[in-house]
Amino acid sequence: MRRGVLPENAGTPLATPLFPSVMYHYESVSQMEDLYEGRIEGFTYARYGNPNSVILAEKLSWMEGAAGGTMTASGMTAITAAMLGVLSQGDGVAASSQLYRRSLKLVGEVLPRLGFEVRQFDPSEPASLAKAITPGTRVVLTEVISNPMLRVANFAAIAEAAKAVGALLLVDNTFTTPSLFNPLANGADLVAHSVTKMLSGHSDLNLGYIGGLDPVILDQIADTISIMGFNASPHDCWLAERGLHTFDLRLRQAQANAASLADLLVAHEAVTRVHYPGLADHVDHDLARSMLPNGYGTMVGFVLGGDRSNVDAFLAAAGNIPYGSTLGDVATVLTLPAISSHRTMPRDERLALGIEQNLVRVSVGIEDFDLIAADFAEALDAAKAAG
Ligand SMILES: *Cc1c(COP(=O)(O)O)cnc(C)c1O
Repeated sequence: MRRGVLPENAGTPLATPLFPSVMYHYESVSQMEDLYEGRIEGFTYARYGNPNSVILAEKLSWMEGAAGGTMTASGMTAITAAMLGVLSQGDGVAASSQLYRRSLKLVGEVLPRLGFEVRQFDPSEPASLAKAITPGTRVVLTEVISNPMLRVANFAAIAEAAKAVGALLLVDNTFTTPSLFNPLANGADLVAHSVTKMLSGHSDLNLGYIGGLDPVILDQIADTISIMGFNASPHDCWLAERGLHTFDLRLRQAQANAASLADLLVAHEAVTRVHYPGLADHVDHDLARSMLPNGYGTMVGFVLGGDRSNVDAFLAAAGNIPYGSTLGDVATVLTLPAISSHRTMPRDERLALGIEQNLVRVSVGIEDFDLIAADFAEALDAAKAAG
């Protein structure tokens, strides 16, 4: 059987078609030459890019104010591609000590194994920057709101320190999203996302994005993605684009729910502490207010009084709310950082970061708040009753 041909169709589809094709063929050798010489535009092979990844990357670049960007197979491949795309032998890396756990492994284990010297700084403590960001530093990696303590980075100080030594500032903007903070407009050179989370929003794909301002550096990173095979699946990009259309609506609803949930938690006897940058008693509240005028995000942390038995009682009674380890879903999701993401971190290091054994992280979803409130009230009462 031969390959089919697309039927004649003068119309233009409203929804973006899915392009799963790995290969694109051309009419003649000279057309191929025109393509390779950049005289015409086109796709050749999926690892070098596909229409669905280009459409999605352009939307995200627009949201971030980037000159360009590329989709990757995951958030982690976006960060890895940025590092491998710009680092050369002898370069130093400075990284926040409060990154997403796998990013900490990348800078703490993988990059040192490849010979790069990595120094850490506390993103909320400008005094720690001078020792970490030095003239040998090529890349500075930070996030804006940390996981799971929701500490707000002193972004202006970090950007200034990076600029002073000519280092590239790479920002993982997953927790803040382009609607709450734009790293590139605030002194960053590169911005990365785990599109897996809030941007796509439905927990049905893994995707990353890396964008920036300098076309030469963006080309180096795009080359790294196609050489290493960090490219994104067309199907995942197609689904993520569909999710992105409702991103702002979802963000608005989830942020309003998060603010209401924080208030509910503060008022309940079973809870000893609430971590949410929108609360006046949050350690970085003033900084959050000045840096994040569009809202404080969709994550809330809280500590249950008592011990593990209280957490067990809470989770058993909170059966309607999934307990797992991701964030940014349309549904509210609970995580216990000490048991999952920070399980392998030594206990004293964990406690130094403020990650108590009974800390519960909530990725707040877009449900009707009445549903969330009813589920939490029941589960918190059960935690309290467990003694
Ligand atoms: C989830 C996450 C990542 C990793 O993204 P994947 O798509 O799972 O590879 C990186 N940074 C942050 C802040 C995340 O939440």
